[in-house]
Amino acid sequence: MPLSRYLKTFTDPSRPGSVILYSTKKGSIVRVPEKFLAAAQNDTLSESDKTTLRRLELWVDDPAAERAAMAALIDHTNGNSGTFMATVVLTLACNLACPYCFEDHFRGDHAMSDETARLLIAHVKREQIDSGRDVELRFYGGEPLMAVPRLKQIAGALQDAAQIAGTKFSCSLVTNATLLTRPVVEELLPFGLTSAQITLDGPADTHNRQRPFVSGQGSFKIIVDNLRAVYDLITIKPGGNFTHDNYREFPAMLDALIEAGMDPAQLGPVQLSPVHPKSGGQYTHSASCAIGSEPWLIEANLYLRGEILRRGFSVDKPHMGVCMIELTNNLVVNYDGTFYKCPALMGWPEFAVGTLADGVNDYRESHNLDIWKNDECLECAYLPLCFGGCRFFRKLKTGAIDGVDCRRAMLDASLETLVRQDLGMN
Ligand code: SF4
Ligand code: SF4
Repeated sequence: MPLSRYLKTFTDPSRPGSVILYSTKKGSIVRVPEKFLAAAQNDTLSESDKTTLRRLELWVDDPAAERAAMAALIDHTNGNSGTFMATVVLTLACNLACPYCFEDHFRGDHAMSDETARLLIAHVKREQIDSGRDVELRFYGGEPLMAVPRLKQIAGALQDAAQIAGTKFSCSLVTNATLLTRPVVEELLPFGLTSAQITLDGPADTHNRQRPFVSGQGSFKIIVDNLRAVYDLITIKPGGNFTHDNYREFPAMLDALIEAGMDPAQLGPVQLSPVHPKSGGQYTHSASCAIGSEPWLIEANLYLRGEILRRGFSVDKPHMGVCMIELTNNLVVNYDGTFYKCPALMGWPEFAVGTLADGVNDYRESHNLDIWKNDECLECAYLPLCFGGCRFFRKLKTGAIDGVDCRRAMLDASLETLVRQDLGMN
């Protein structure tokens, strides 16, 4: 079986007699005659055709070695990672009052203290920068721009440490964008700010219902004005949280960005996700990697992706996706200095994996690492896109991270359309 097992074959209605081969491992796509596919399956291809397919990782000389390499891939990535990434919760305070947010009762006193910030700086310097790693921090909240002095304290100290060590430091924001003014961005650029993931929950009326200020006033216009003022300075990644009832309104939100004078090609990839269930019975943290598999959601994702591309915005292509729980050099640091492996798990204290004061615990058992290392997953064509799915969803479904969150049904229903969209066929 010299064709890669991590390959999907799709029909091509635009060219009868042709098929599309798609590598889930490399993301490579090739359109070939059906006869070519039959020759590949019978191992009667010419050597030069095999060389082409090998380069695209559609052809493997040793299927057992391919499977073994995939099984070792995450360990290999962890062993060779030159970058440390952390999501840092600066404060749970927020100036918006979104009805789907469960942080309401946390507003006020839950901000990172000076002592915790100092511990964070010392930890990242000692454990990462001094080991020669680059550092990328993603400031998160609440609303991180309600804690700009703390952000500058952390980013400034780590940037200085990285400069002395000859490594790189950069940071980004997950922000509601109401405070993302040009003066604020200009103030943060010297601290390594490169991008901001922002949220617009639909066109003006829908967004203003979903994301009003605490005062009740709508926030849509202020956000769009801010985006227009800063999108030449940093990469703006537009995001939004849709529901079953309002997802068809979201293309109008994209139109509003264009009408406001923004060039879709100058914005980062658009990432629209469903409103997630609350985490841990306490508060919600969304993570765009958590993908549900309900039929309406599959339809909504495909519809919205098509509308985004049609307007000239960009989206992420299907790509190798590993749950960050599996990545050693990837942490979440809560405002109180507690470590987690994923923002969505911050509501469950039992999934804390240590503290800035005590270091990172062994979480292999509590988070059931390597859960995808079984025959079914290792033989599955979707493994590179899935790696066992989302641990947070598994916990929501069964109460524990006690197995994979299988994405086969979702990928069966959507991958072909995603590939066609990326080929400009839909
Ligand atoms: S558990 Fe993993 S896949 Fe799910 S939201 Fe967290 S990081 Fe993403
Ligand atoms: S969890 Fe399901 S879709 Fe994912 S690799 Fe395993 S079998 Fe395939």
